[in-house]
Amino acid sequence: MARGDAQVNWLVGLCLAGLIAGVAYRLRLLTAGGAWAAVGVGASVFGAGGLWASAPMVGFFFSSSLLPRLLGRPHKTERRTAAQVLANGLAPALCGWGATLTPAYAEAFWLGSMAALATATADTWATEFGVRFGSPVWLLTTGRRIAAGESGGVSWQGTLGGVAGACAIACLGAPLIGEGQLLALAAGLGVAGMALDSLLGATLQARYWCAQCHALTEQARCCNAPTQHLRGVRGLDNNAVNGISTLLAAAAGIGAGLLR
Ligand SMILES: [Zn+2]
Repeated sequence: MARGDAQVNWLVGLCLAGLIAGVAYRLRLLTAGGAWAAVGVGASVFGAGGLWASAPMVGFFFSSSLLPRLLGRPHKTERRTAAQVLANGLAPALCGWGATLTPAYAEAFWLGSMAALATATADTWATEFGVRFGSPVWLLTTGRRIAAGESGGVSWQGTLGGVAGACAIACLGAPLIGEGQLLALAAGLGVAGMALDSLLGATLQARYWCAQCHALTEQARCCNAPTQHLRGVRGLDNNAVNGISTLLAAAAGIGAGLLR
């Protein structure tokens, strides 16, 4: 890519990311911090790879925002924070920088970016389909029945939704990586990343007890008071688990891209 084209990409990326983040902020999908994080991630990916590199990222963003509404699930009006955006967006952004700084390995970095976005999408779709259709839901580690939507839970419906999500991202990446085997690999890494996310959610993720409302929670605070730590690594919340899963999926994708 010519140098002038790259500069145009960064400028267009910044404008488009700013526009989409601004609209998402007005629609109350993002907090202000979340909008700034989205601008950083969006501009990094578009600036590095242009429109086709951004398609999987845009697919993840819109499908995860719209899926609860499409499935007719009474959606939470909770806005995504910077931590939530970066949990899924840091890996693709870093891959964008990797592709920019080492153009010879760009394809490997884009494979990593797709693997991370396939993981994020699979995880989000699995949660949405699991909560909407998934009954029963089991804890991945012990097989104990738990409530749908709880971290570490798996159901057939959720898993199928997750696989569909990973495949959808791989399809959106087809113009970027025109090789069927690599697209299948990205989808497979997305499904593996989703499984890792569930495993970490069931084991290392922190669980707390709220003495006010007598409920198990994933939050360190509830009912305006600190909760009691029960198990898992203190401070390792759902965002951290998502971040670890997407970064590892990206690393696996980059590794696979470099080895071929
Ligand atoms: Zn509470």
